[in-house]
Amino acid sequence: MTLTLFEKIINKEIPADIIYEDEISIVIKDISPQAPTHLLIIPKKVIPKLSDASKKDKDILGHLMLLAGRIAEELGLDETFRLVVNNGAAAGQSVFHLHLHLLSGRPLNWPPG
Ligand code: 5GP
Repeated sequence: MTLTLFEKIINKEIPADIIYEDEISIVIKDISPQAPTHLLIIPKKVIPKLSDASKKDKDILGHLMLLAGRIAEELGLDETFRLVVNNGAAAGQSVFHLHLHLLSGRPLNWPPG
């Protein structure tokens, strides 16, 4: 079975700037940052996209959200950050292994493009 890019990072087959890891998730720096802080918060379980998640994934999803807040606090982002989930290619998703983008460090316009 083909591994997702993020599984290869989780398995340490591909290097990444890992800033946090636990049994449920890994947090890495995005290779092509769109803001001074651009992290990817990734569950170790492969859920291709958010709309594929089900009720049994609610603890994982909750974990990712709480972790985002905790990491933002630890990095001193002053409660100013944005979380983004691209769901589907037309919405900008390019890696089909669920992940949260955490962006901070520049003005974040609304609505996003
Ligand atoms: P998506 O477009 O699926 O929402 O987000 C995928 C993200 O993964 C993109 O922001 C892209 O820059 C990032 N990315 C792609 N390849 C790599 C890689 O090899 N390492 C890291 N750290 N990030 C990657």
